[in-house]
Amino acid sequence: MVEEHQMLCCEGEVADYIPELGKVDPSLLGVSVCTLDGEVVEAGDTSRPFTMQSISKVLALALALMDRGEDVVFDVVGMEPTGDPFNSIIKLETMNPRKPLNPMINAGAIAVTSLINGQTVNDKLGRLLQFVHELSGNTKISVNEKVARSEHETAHLNRALAHFMKEDGVLTGSIEDILALYFQQCGIEVTCLDLARIGAVLANEGKDIASGRQMMPVHVARICKTFMVTCGMYNASGEFAIHVGIPAKSGVSGGILGAVPFQLGIGVFGPSLDEKGNSVGGVSLLESISKRWDFSIF
Ligand code: GLU
Repeated sequence: MVEEHQMLCCEGEVADYIPELGKVDPSLLGVSVCTLDGEVVEAGDTSRPFTMQSISKVLALALALMDRGEDVVFDVVGMEPTGDPFNSIIKLETMNPRKPLNPMINAGAIAVTSLINGQTVNDKLGRLLQFVHELSGNTKISVNEKVARSEHETAHLNRALAHFMKEDGVLTGSIEDILALYFQQCGIEVTCLDLARIGAVLANEGKDIASGRQMMPVHVARICKTFMVTCGMYNASGEFAIHVGIPAKSGVSGGILGAVPFQLGIGVFGPSLDEKGNSVGGVSLLESISKRWDFSIF
């Protein structure tokens, strides 16, 4: 199946608005699956690490919900999908109340990241990394500083979003500190298998599949999966829900995190993107996998 879908990779383009991401080979495609029994199946280019980018928004949301609770989090960010691109600024001005529509668009994610507990940017990043280590069972996961720096130097639109939200009182504290944390979280580097293991925890209602330890409360895992369904695939989330039907979150690096409730986690990497920012090969591969094994939750 990977070979079949790899041919589609030439139909898309690698994201290059973060210059460092533009250097990746667009023909790569890989998938890892981790069942709740711990069985792992992998195919294609699964050894190539990639940065989480927007996939990190799910984990930052889970941590912020655990740190601050639903009331505080949903005071700064809404729960509704948007038909606009992930980095759009337009609704920030027109919505009432003036807060980002959901935690999966850039504005909402920046607001959520600002709520993670910790004294300094490094403390907060350290807590987020530790959470990622625990969920994936991989303590070697770290930030790709080159990619994070590349974003830091070019993120004019994200800076504009942050300044807008500061003006509206959605963000409190230093904008540069909040953005520094956001760029580093987007630069957390993983493999398909890491994502599959994280997906398995979400699929298992927040419990570690080996130890049974509750890594996040059940309701937090449910909130994450709900946002993955309604907003996880940018402004193609509805189409993805109909054709694939798996709670999933994609990132502009070409990664996709999937969680089939009570069955398995999936990690996909295919850096060639369609015009909405989703992996071309990754989405079509997931559609085939979902259809063949009847994974749609609907
Ligand atoms: N770091 C990226 C940005 O803020 C994440 C976007 C994405 O993966 O959708 O532009």
